[in-house]
Amino acid sequence: MTASPLVLGIETSCDETGIGLVRGRELLADAVASSVGEHARFGGVVPEVASRAHLEAMIPAFDRALATAGARPGDIDAVAVTAGPGLAGALLVGVAAAKAYALALGKPLYGVNHLAAHIAVDQLEHGALPSPAVALLVSGGHSSLLLVPDVATEVIPLGATIDDAAGEAYDKVARVLGLPFPGGPPIDKAARDGDPAAIAFPRGKYRDGTLDFSFAGLKTAVARWVEARQAAGEPVPVADVAASFQEAVADVLTRKAVQACRAHGVRDLIVGGGVAANSRLRALAASRCDDAGIRLRVPRPGLCTDNGAMVAALGAEIAGRGLPPSPLGLPADSSLPVTEVVVRWADADSGDRYDHGIARIAARQPQHAPVKGGQTGAVAAGDGEQASRPSGAVGTSPALWARPMDAELAAWSRPAP
Ligand code: ADP
Ligand code: MG
Repeated sequence: MTASPLVLGIETSCDETGIGLVRGRELLADAVASSVGEHARFGGVVPEVASRAHLEAMIPAFDRALATAGARPGDIDAVAVTAGPGLAGALLVGVAAAKAYALALGKPLYGVNHLAAHIAVDQLEHGALPSPAVALLVSGGHSSLLLVPDVATEVIPLGATIDDAAGEAYDKVARVLGLPFPGGPPIDKAARDGDPAAIAFPRGKYRDGTLDFSFAGLKTAVARWVEARQAAGEPVPVADVAASFQEAVADVLTRKAVQACRAHGVRDLIVGGGVAANSRLRALAASRCDDAGIRLRVPRPGLCTDNGAMVAALGAEIAGRGLPPSPLGLPADSSLPVTEVVVRWADADSGDRYDHGIARIAARQPQHAPVKGGQTGAVAAGDGEQASRPSGAVGTSPALWARPMDAELAAWSRPAP
């Protein structure tokens, strides 16, 4: 029996540079370097600062992950990277690094969806995902309910926030209360000493029958309540405000998650994303799932916030099944839809040339290792059969690139002096 592929996972969609190494469903290394401290004084993630931090952290994190796993670069069988959604500049750093590693190692590249990776990471802790499952994904950038027939191939959106994400509301409310950024952990901590029933904050879209969320009204209600106390010269009961706010968030998230399971006849709920680290959300989800006869799976807090292990976990699932890799010209897509678990198209401007160039180089270096299912990473990605861009695609036909690019390709393939 051959061992499962060793998959390198690269995550740079927001403020964490994550490098994970996973074989099958075994987590071998999870190196995370966060730039969160650099954003604290701005009260939110600054994209340019995050991108620069990814550049600086990438190679040290890669080295650290390999050292932890006791692996050498040549042991890596496939490279997975978050292709989107996320901050464009931040994603670009990870995607560029992943292409470089895949090319240098001669291994297939999988550009994967960040949200699907948040779901797949649970397999590292609790084994194969049940099918179908419902996933509640809550982070600083997303609040979504998803139906997941198969995390490697099919993820269906059921609902999402119509305004702020849950984590964004945590971050903004923390600011109002004078707590540090990111707001989730300090609010979680402050709420332990507060009364969740002290203030009746609004629960957006609570009874509207949809599976969508809204947190902007809640955030504003907290701000107005705090301002009113301050204007009256009264002290702000931080613990009570934190607990009451947190109760409103956890109440609406868990209520709709159970509603989604019921509506789709699903018995398994997975909760992921940074806000899934929240103690009240975890406790309320556990009790409501218990009451509703739903099995609940939540990864440990360290795997809920962004990390490379989740990308490696999804990559390992995809590569392990022998599904085809992404083209090496794959783009970073800041608004990649959750339905696209693996990116199968190349950037129209550079992708075709890039992939064709890689294919030519690969053809002269037949040592590229085949992955399961007979795919040969770089060669398969560039053999002229790649999918074209879903809309507005240009230049994806082999006939278009064959002639004019030859000189350029010859230059690329020329042996180093
Ligand atoms: P992203 O960085 O893309 O938003 P993460 O998955 O890293 O995604 O999530 C970060 C978000 O999670 C932040 O908004 C943070 O406030 C929130 N968060 C982290 N820990 C907790 C917690 N214990 N309770 C509530 N929110 C939390
Ligand atoms: Mg983050």
